[in-house]
Amino acid sequence: MVDIRFDGRVAIVTGAGTGLGRSHALGLAKRGAKVVVNDLGVGRDGSGSSSEAAQAVVAEIEAMGGEALAHGCDVADEDGVIDMVTQAIAVWGRVDIVVNNAGILRDKTFAKMDMADFRKVVDVHLIGSANVAHACWPIMREQKYGRIVFTSSASGLYGNFGQSNYGAAKASMMGLMNVLHLEGARDNIRVNTLAPTAATRMTEELLPAEAAELLAPETITPGLLYLVSEDAPSRTILGAGAGSFALTKVYETPGITLMDDENTPETVAAKFAEIAAAEGQEELTDAFSQTKKYALNAAKARGLK
Ligand code: NAD
Repeated sequence: MVDIRFDGRVAIVTGAGTGLGRSHALGLAKRGAKVVVNDLGVGRDGSGSSSEAAQAVVAEIEAMGGEALAHGCDVADEDGVIDMVTQAIAVWGRVDIVVNNAGILRDKTFAKMDMADFRKVVDVHLIGSANVAHACWPIMREQKYGRIVFTSSASGLYGNFGQSNYGAAKASMMGLMNVLHLEGARDNIRVNTLAPTAATRMTEELLPAEAAELLAPETITPGLLYLVSEDAPSRTILGAGAGSFALTKVYETPGITLMDDENTPETVAAKFAEIAAAEGQEELTDAFSQTKKYALNAAKARGLK
């Protein structure tokens, strides 16, 4: 097994004052990275602010002989994020790793959801992650090196009652990853998504004590460290928690092709089981692969080349 090290690398970890972000920041620092510990120090719903948590993590890293700096910007504020990245460059001259981890919850059923709460959650998770990736993008392209992780959730990948805002924001991580993976590949920028499940203040009332003990954030960080390492994969969604690691994948079934004279909603309904049949399903590599598949199917059905 090859040792995974981050000597000489500079990492930004958002929401790193507590929970998963803190564990990721410490994990990176222990293996040699210089770390920007970002945290706005808010409550679980995004209210308030404090610089204490980020400062405490910087002190922990310095106590073990590492280098870190705290930055208290709100990831949803583009100017604040640009200031953070500018500081990292001023101090260390590069940014190699971005871990988009900052997050909040404002749970309500969709019937009771206020659009301000919907927007706020999308702002922190989606716009916040895009802000940080966007501010670092030209630096990573220039360096010909970058590793970016977005933090999704089972709520976004599979759905969770009462989390329409959070689920939508977390599913959007996959879309952002897919495109940045394609655009970053030629400059050695690899982009992945982590879907953790951990005992943190975000989940504290949801988990029985015995489960909480097994689901420590530190059980997830090894997966995150692999996703931002030199030999990282790209465009993967890594589920992680309590020592379990698994990939989430999106497949498309082979489906069917209808000629114009039979292309009616009734035929789609009648053949729905055939459309859904999983045998031969495949993972498409980009949007155009789907267009190509359908156009080729149609041409073949018509006896064209
Ligand atoms: P946490 O509440 O312990 O930590 C989140 C941190 O983000 C806090 O320190 C907070 O101050 C910071 N933060 C919030 N909004 C911010 C902003 N706008 N700018 C900068 N910092 C901000 O939560 P956690 O459980 O450690 O969650 C970390 C990430 O993992 C989140 O994105 C969360 O949605 C995701 N996640 C967590 C779980 C879980 O089981 N805990 C499951 C799936 C996904």
